[in-house]
Amino acid sequence: MRVHRPWHLILVMIALASATGVLAADPADIDGLLTMTGATLEWDEFTRTGILWGASTSIGFTPDDPVAVDGFVDLFRVDPIVYARGRLLVPDATRAAFAERLGVTGDALRVRPIKAIVIDPGHGGRDPGANRTVTVDGKSVVVTEKDLVLDIGIRLRDALRGLVAGPEIHLSRETDVYMTLGERTEFANSLREHPLDNILFVSIHVNASPQPWTDARGVEIYYLPPSQRRQVLEPEVAAGLEPGVMAILNDLKEEEYTVESVLMGQAVLNAISERLPQTPVERGVNVANFFVVREARMPSILVETGFINNREDLAKLMTPTYRQQLADAIALGIARYVRDFESVR
Ligand SMILES: [Zn+2]
Repeated sequence: MRVHRPWHLILVMIALASATGVLAADPADIDGLLTMTGATLEWDEFTRTGILWGASTSIGFTPDDPVAVDGFVDLFRVDPIVYARGRLLVPDATRAAFAERLGVTGDALRVRPIKAIVIDPGHGGRDPGANRTVTVDGKSVVVTEKDLVLDIGIRLRDALRGLVAGPEIHLSRETDVYMTLGERTEFANSLREHPLDNILFVSIHVNASPQPWTDARGVEIYYLPPSQRRQVLEPEVAAGLEPGVMAILNDLKEEEYTVESVLMGQAVLNAISERLPQTPVERGVNVANFFVVREARMPSILVETGFINNREDLAKLMTPTYRQQLADAIALGIARYVRDFESVR
């Protein structure tokens, strides 16, 4: 017996169901999830990875991947998100699972505040760093980088404590002691009690060029080049992940750290240029592969406070008043960065 189905009616019903979102299998644009939760989306078109920043956690995802990551730590299975014609389409079940984890943004903090700031005066003890011998009042004096940066570091710590109330401010060394680079970054990394704790690392140095004296002068700030691969996930987190998933997560975290490092570096440079107009800042914020910048698993910058083998820079760096002004300006830049970081997301 031949059955005549009312095809035209069924088609109309399907069209209506689609239009009203009744069909369970119909994935919806991610905008709905953002509206529902108040979360913000960080989407990287190049790596095709996304992070949703919600009230209570973040969720990392990759289209077509059946695994998402809560708070850079917990993996959970999802119906994969589809990326098509510039739109991220989220299946119903995934939308519900994400919404539950992200929470709803009300007055809740959408990003954890900065937990700690580590100021790292370079060198120390048997490692003097760069040095020059100058004549002061007819006497020969050896000026060392390790002494200059320790003094600036202590002033910077005290200035920062006056400007930011939330974060703990630590020095990697408070006296003239030798520390390996690894000890400095291990100390900073050890301050993280929760994988989402935000910590900043600021290394203080004095520049030197190969020639005895130079015309090069002024402040210069370094951060890690984005092309430099490094592991920024906490080892105990990374150990529990499949290599493929770990690589994606690591990239997300690493890109975040690079962006934050540049923003912090720029804020510091701007504050110096504003407060100390006589100090050249044209050397700018640059990429470099310094160990301390690379090994601290957090946004990190290295501030070269001037050239020890430039006579103008050295004369200023030898003056306590200038070291205080410089510390105040760096502190102002960091404080502005902290304020922006804690309020923007
Ligand atoms: Zn140095």
